[in-house]
Amino acid sequence: MTPLVRQISDKYRAHCSADLHLLEKTLGESLSGGADVVTRYESELSAYFQADHAVAVSSGTAAIQTALAALGVGSGSSVVLTPTCPLCTVYPILALGATPIFCDTQNDSFGCDPDDLARILRECPQVKAVLDIPMWGYPTRLDLLREITSGRKIPLVLDLAHSHGTKLHGLDLNRYGEISCFSTHERKLVSTGEGGFLLTSDAELARRCRDFTRFGNLDGVTFGLNFKLSGLQATLGISRLGLLDEQLKRRKENADHFLAQLQAEAAVPLRPVDGGTPNYYALLLRLNFRNNRAFVKAMTQAGIPSDILRYNVVCLYEFPLLQAYRRPCPNAEVLLAAITTIPMHPGISPEDLHYMSAAINAYAESSLNG
Ligand SMILES: *Cc1c(COP(=O)(O)O)cnc(C)c1O
Repeated sequence: MTPLVRQISDKYRAHCSADLHLLEKTLGESLSGGADVVTRYESELSAYFQADHAVAVSSGTAAIQTALAALGVGSGSSVVLTPTCPLCTVYPILALGATPIFCDTQNDSFGCDPDDLARILRECPQVKAVLDIPMWGYPTRLDLLREITSGRKIPLVLDLAHSHGTKLHGLDLNRYGEISCFSTHERKLVSTGEGGFLLTSDAELARRCRDFTRFGNLDGVTFGLNFKLSGLQATLGISRLGLLDEQLKRRKENADHFLAQLQAEAAVPLRPVDGGTPNYYALLLRLNFRNNRAFVKAMTQAGIPSDILRYNVVCLYEFPLLQAYRRPCPNAEVLLAAITTIPMHPGISPEDLHYMSAAINAYAESSLNG
């Protein structure tokens, strides 16, 4: 067993003196979800991500439920998604009384496999939306998926909880979907503690989302719930959005530095899809050990945390609540069994990067000789 010599943090806390200054100013204003500061946050989000409309909400989960509800998803309808995402993404589908249909991934990315997706859409007329989830900030082939869904007039919804700043062909991923859902939970790249937001360039869809998050404006005609983001969180959001570019730059530098030192043949960087730029929410390694999970466990014991162990990452239909929706997804199973995550956040030091690459190189070396 590898002794624990160092513990690499898997979480990054932004410290910003600007936070305090802005919070102090906002405390004198209204703090409800209808406050001016929330509108200002939404304007900054739409400007940053080049989307015509932004709606701030209380969580990433609320964002997904709101997007789907606004698209008319309810009982009797189905939503297509990949089984490689977290439980957080599928629960809003269940909450709406709709049925999840698991689509296989490609063999080298977390996006829907175009052939499997086309097959599902041919066979299931009740599909109301396709939900694609680029995991750990690695882009998927959204250009291809967009062609398939738009040809059938089915909206493409994106769960970009991991993907603030991830790009495909130079564009932020939200530019490829009808509507995009983000989380600003404190583990994500923009943090408001808890929170989320929606982006769309469809004015009517944005209006329906806004209505849904504020009780349908209490008109008694339109159904809705209270999913608004508070003014205090919006204030933090404004402050933290200003740090995103610097964070993306530091994560990329960390990844380049780490990869320059990595020499293990059985643990190579997962190649991004053509034209794709990950944000390094985490760096993904593709593993080819005799026992990949033994490697992930050994690295965890050596103080290098992996989301694969932390969240018990398996295809979602392996969980009791979702067994009824099992569908063959061979690529997804192979992909999940062959990856691990390496933290790359700005709190990681050059010594940490060196420690991690050396530990992986040494493990690979000894597994060759063993
Ligand atoms: C975090 C996360 C969510 C849920 O967001 P919350 O803000 O925690 O509700 C949904 N999908 C993915 C991929 C996530 O990582």
